Amino acid sequence: MENRAEVLVDLGAIRENVKYLMARSGKPALAVVKADGYGHGLLPVASSALSAGASWLGVALLEEAQALRQGGISAPIIAWLTPVTDDFASAIVEEIDIAIPSLAHLEAITSAARSTGKCARVHLEVDTGMSRGGALSEWSELVRRAKDYQDLGSIKVIGVWSHFARADESGHEFNKKQLDNFNNALLTAKDAGISPEIIHLSNSAAAINDSNAHFDLLRLGIAIYGLSPDFLFMGSSEKLNLKPAMSIRAKIHLVKDVPAGSQVGYGGSAMTKVDTKLGVIAMGYADGIPRSANSDAGVLVGNKRAPIIGRVSMDQFVVDLGRDSSAKAGDWAYIIGSNPSDSYTSASSYTADSWASASATINYEIVTRIAARVKRIYHG
Ligand SMILES: *Cc1c(COP(=O)(O)O)cnc(C)c1O
Repeated sequence: MENRAEVLVDLGAIRENVKYLMARSGKPALAVVKADGYGHGLLPVASSALSAGASWLGVALLEEAQALRQGGISAPIIAWLTPVTDDFASAIVEEIDIAIPSLAHLEAITSAARSTGKCARVHLEVDTGMSRGGALSEWSELVRRAKDYQDLGSIKVIGVWSHFARADESGHEFNKKQLDNFNNALLTAKDAGISPEIIHLSNSAAAINDSNAHFDLLRLGIAIYGLSPDFLFMGSSEKLNLKPAMSIRAKIHLVKDVPAGSQVGYGGSAMTKVDTKLGVIAMGYADGIPRSANSDAGVLVGNKRAPIIGRVSMDQFVVDLGRDSSAKAGDWAYIIGSNPSDSYTSASSYTADSWASASATINYEIVTRIAARVKRIYHG
């Protein structure tokens, strides 16, 4: 039996992207593998990135870090979205580095450290203008207390870090403002007697756009998957010399001839203009195909694009194959990318970027939203 739908992940592409980004910047890399490796698979991506030379891994959740440890990964890992109610004691025992964005986190983590009798490895997070993670007004108090707890042996400040809001907008003055704020926060930390081993600020966009923000380590997410941090501001994967790692394909469930004037799908939101052949594709919004996708998205079947017609349903969507299509039930339809054994040019394939613009979202959401019920297949 063949799968109904598959995410095909080219691990060789991930390794190439990691190597390329490290060579380009000359800096060590932390591979960001949160959200199941941006939908590509946590452990396979983590192993590939490490084998290509990344020295750190980063995740949002503690569970993600623990899954990496359970998968046998011993490289340093940071988890940066850990509510104060998390099980920090386990994290400390498993040598998972924890981000500290507030005094409340510092207290919770130091008390967990005391309970285990071990020293917690932490990264103090400063808010430099995004107003999301990190300490803002608490920063000077946070570094002072962190120094006290470090002296008592309950924590070790491994890193100081922050995050950009607009790094994709190269040259935007807000980036300079965040960088200035970060440098000031580093001085405050230094004055308090904190000297971190590693200072880190750049995501993929800043790693590509702004070498002044590189510091000691780049936190590379979307770019290691071969996708552009922002198609509009920074251009396509191809322009950035990145190789997209994810293709998605699904079976054509049905092929049928329909006359001109047929309404298609729920709400009859689309109508065939001419006699045509429709294909029913065996993936829907429960699989992560955006219901908001318009007819700028579709599938590649044979050597031809077949645009979406009508609304995406839960488990399926309909494409207009065109009257002359030779597609048949059971064929693969490529939602992203193309069959490597066919002679398609990448220009005719649909991409995470084309799906994003057809759905008023970003490529990050397209790849991370593909549901667990779609099997991941690895090659490369
Ligand atoms: C997700 C994330 C990154 C990676 O961002 P990309 O834009 O995917 O490179 C880096 N740092 C933090 C804190 C993140 O949450």
